[in-house]
Amino acid sequence: MEAITNNLTAAQAEAVTHIDGPLLIIAGPGSGKTRVVTHRIAHMLHRGVRPFQIAALTFTNKAADEMRMRVNLLAPGQPVWMGTFHRFCAQQLRRYASMVGLQENYSIYDTSDSKSAMKRAIAAAGVSTTHSTPEQIASAISRAKNRLITPEIMQQQSGRASDSVAARVYPVYQQQLLLANAVDFDDLLYHFARLLRENPEVRGELDAKLKYIMVDEYQDTNLAQYAIVRAMSVDHPNLAVTGDPDQSIYGWRGADLNNILDFEKDYPNVKTVRLEQNYRSTPNILAVADQLIRHNRRRKPKELFTENPDGENVILRQYEDGYQEADEIADEIATQMMAGNAEPRDFAIFCRMNALTRSLEHALRNRGLPYQIVNGVEFYQRKEVKDLLAYLHLINNPSHDVAFQRVVNTPTRGIGATTIGRLQRFADSQRIPMLEAARRANEIDALSKRAVTMVSKFVTIYDRLRKKATASLEDLLRYLVEETHYIDFLEKSAMEKEDANPAANVDELISAAVEFDRMHPDDGSLDAFLEQVALVADTDAFEDSNNRVTLMTLHAAKGLEFPRVFVIAVEDGLLPHARSKENDQQLEEERRLLFVGITRAKQWCQLSYAKRRSVRGDVRPVIPSMFLSELPRADMTVIESQRDYDFFDSVDEEYPDSWDIVQEPATTIQSVAIESNDAPSTVDRLPNASVIPDLYMDEPSAVTKKPKSSKPSI
Ligand code: ATP
Ligand code: MG
Repeated sequence: MEAITNNLTAAQAEAVTHIDGPLLIIAGPGSGKTRVVTHRIAHMLHRGVRPFQIAALTFTNKAADEMRMRVNLLAPGQPVWMGTFHRFCAQQLRRYASMVGLQENYSIYDTSDSKSAMKRAIAAAGVSTTHSTPEQIASAISRAKNRLITPEIMQQQSGRASDSVAARVYPVYQQQLLLANAVDFDDLLYHFARLLRENPEVRGELDAKLKYIMVDEYQDTNLAQYAIVRAMSVDHPNLAVTGDPDQSIYGWRGADLNNILDFEKDYPNVKTVRLEQNYRSTPNILAVADQLIRHNRRRKPKELFTENPDGENVILRQYEDGYQEADEIADEIATQMMAGNAEPRDFAIFCRMNALTRSLEHALRNRGLPYQIVNGVEFYQRKEVKDLLAYLHLINNPSHDVAFQRVVNTPTRGIGATTIGRLQRFADSQRIPMLEAARRANEIDALSKRAVTMVSKFVTIYDRLRKKATASLEDLLRYLVEETHYIDFLEKSAMEKEDANPAANVDELISAAVEFDRMHPDDGSLDAFLEQVALVADTDAFEDSNNRVTLMTLHAAKGLEFPRVFVIAVEDGLLPHARSKENDQQLEEERRLLFVGITRAKQWCQLSYAKRRSVRGDVRPVIPSMFLSELPRADMTVIESQRDYDFFDSVDEEYPDSWDIVQEPATTIQSVAIESNDAPSTVDRLPNASVIPDLYMDEPSAVTKKPKSSKPSI
């Protein structure tokens, strides 16, 4: 018991020991919000709250895993539910599937499945895509779902032309999903929120069962998420949320800052706790982050102090181009490691977009520095993995049309696009799943005799596989690979593409199945495995235990911390993103994104930009991010590249003379070999040196003239 409140400040302890009644913990980064959530769970358990009465909702699986581990240290072996909103809803929906028109074994469409479904719905709705692209239609529908707008309401409301196109597609898309016994990601929240709204009994039942709901990072909830936690906290209003409005970075996905700002209005008798001491970062890092975020107008100022010792200045660094940036960051990491007080796992490199990591991967690999790219979804997007998963999906849910379309002719069985099109039309006309249409192929006049035979053969294989559905996952997968001669097929197509090891990903998927069987000896259903795979998020591939440099997007970095942080490409058009510049609110969200990046750092932080960057092979001059001009340069170390360009002289006047300028030191260490037995699987994707674009070679020719003055040129 003591251990739970011992290492807490008075304010943290106050929040931890508040059990009944609504609780709002509003505080800046690194102030212990997440720590309070874990300690509070442990405290409640010690005070006799039953574990199944508690649910802690997070935004990433990674955050949930970490929470589970921490709670387990304080209160071992208690089955408290911790996980993401999507997973929570997915599990609840299994129980109440029939109430929203689904069956218990419903499938979760991933982004690319949803895309195919959307295309089919657009075609079926007969709308023209001249003025709005399928992406625009999809995102209008997604926005509607996140705001709990039904197809009927959207049809009544739609004003904008693109919305009215979307409004016509929306009901068709929903109908097709239901027919396929499937949901997309947004549906998980949407269906569950509507279920709660429309069924007072279910709502009351869950409210009574889950008496203590906690939400970390509440500032990023959207309306659907808000409605869900609110509905479950009416009779037992013990909702506890933590958040930092300055770290709200999911507005583009419908997150609504008002959910946190209005919490006190929603729950008038709320206990509000503010935490003001930062335990994560040095004062230098905090000061820079604070100065930046002050430029946001839509915010309530917050005090944040730290007793941590002073560290090194935050560095603002200019590079010639993206390649030099990558190279010198790799050198810097090597140098700091050589100095003896850092390991690869201490470093994180953040960027606005995943595409920016390519040259960094190359540079790190060149120096033998182990790294990991946090992009969990990627593995599951590989062709062979998607093929096998599609089989599993269809075995689990015979109505899964997207899966059917993917596997019916994979491996090749002579079933062409025309046949598939005819099956689809028949399915549409009869309102039956495509697999059902395949069973009735002989009723489809348009199909040739040969096509009917081929399709029937597929159905036979399918039925054989389905009989195995109750075997262990490993057995099922192995049987599937064998029955479909999948490896032969891969090897044949790989020879054409000169892919050296096509079966490796199949093995990796089988390993994932073995692991799943091991973790779920009793409850390991195919359903649960597919659900787990479908809900893998960006941050899931991130493994603390690996001693590697981490490369990730700023969005994925939320909630995490690292001793040493690089934020790269802090440049106009990237951060702030080009899309955000016309809209003040979006611009402020971009500023918060940089704020999140800086505040991940514990001891050391560098922000960088290049003079030019190559974008899809085009070398373009760069305008430094406007956010860089908002930083307290007097307290930072500003390092400009030794070479200069006319291009930047034009912006010299805007900046004061007093900057602390340090010329680039000569690089002393070119390469450091690091022992790493388990090389990251991601390196397979690296371009080899021979395909590095030309820019990589054109180093010295960039020198055009000496800098005019000692002023840095941003
Ligand atoms: P973010 O807003 O970035 O999610 P947070 O408010 O959730 O930050 P935590 O991650 O909980 O902050 O805490 C930041 C760091 O400070 C962690 O390493 C945590 O263990 C440490 N910490 C928090 N409170 C204390 C404390 N009272 N004593 C010692 N360490 C603490
Ligand atoms: Mg946190």
